[in-house]
Amino acid sequence: MNIILLGAPFSGKGTLAKKLNSEFNLVQISTGDLFRENIKNGTKVGLLAKQYMDKGELVPDSVTVTMLEERLKKNDCKNGVIFDGFPRTIEQAKMLDKIAKVDAVIELDVPFDIIRRRCLGRRVCSKCGEIYNTSTYSKTTCAKCGSPLFQRDDDNLETVNNRLEVYKKMTAPLINFYTDRLFTVDGNQNPEIVFESVKNFLKKE
Ligand code: AMP
Repeated sequence: MNIILLGAPFSGKGTLAKKLNSEFNLVQISTGDLFRENIKNGTKVGLLAKQYMDKGELVPDSVTVTMLEERLKKNDCKNGVIFDGFPRTIEQAKMLDKIAKVDAVIELDVPFDIIRRRCLGRRVCSKCGEIYNTSTYSKTTCAKCGSPLFQRDDDNLETVNNRLEVYKKMTAPLINFYTDRLFTVDGNQNPEIVFESVKNFLKKE
């Protein structure tokens, strides 16, 4: 089973993906994470992607799809994949159609003012990648591994506003592209409730 998680930045795609992974034995592929890994390793793709990511813009489709195709060749994708943050344009969706079957598309619906608040409060563990929010966690070190937390370069108001504009213009049209396989869930609820309703939908599929 291959699933797409669709939603603006900070709509909770990553959190939901982790819960679905263990329930359905799928592997989560986040193009954002793949780009960050490339940046960390100083690859050509990473250098290029950073210029777009820092401004909240989308990395060109061809670069994104080539990177994704490479990732899909790995053995762990055999049982199915959760696409987190991909596709983000109609063009990417058309390209994905050629390389994988998409069984379901989950849209996480969250008002933009809530998203701005989530963005400015997000902190990430520098070692294990665990994610926190200052609204619910006030410490500056990770509860799991004790390493310092940091704020991502692109977690600022200017960039998030830009990302929301890009989402509205480039990614939201995918909702119509996938109407036949779409399940929309209110993402402004407890993550457990979001997970339960998505799980019930997927079990019926
Ligand atoms: P994310 O971690 O999913 O919020 O992505 C962070 C940034 O990576 C985005 O703002 C884009 O610049 C870039 N990015 C991630 N996924 C894609 C994609 N599918 N297409 C183009 N750019 C992407």
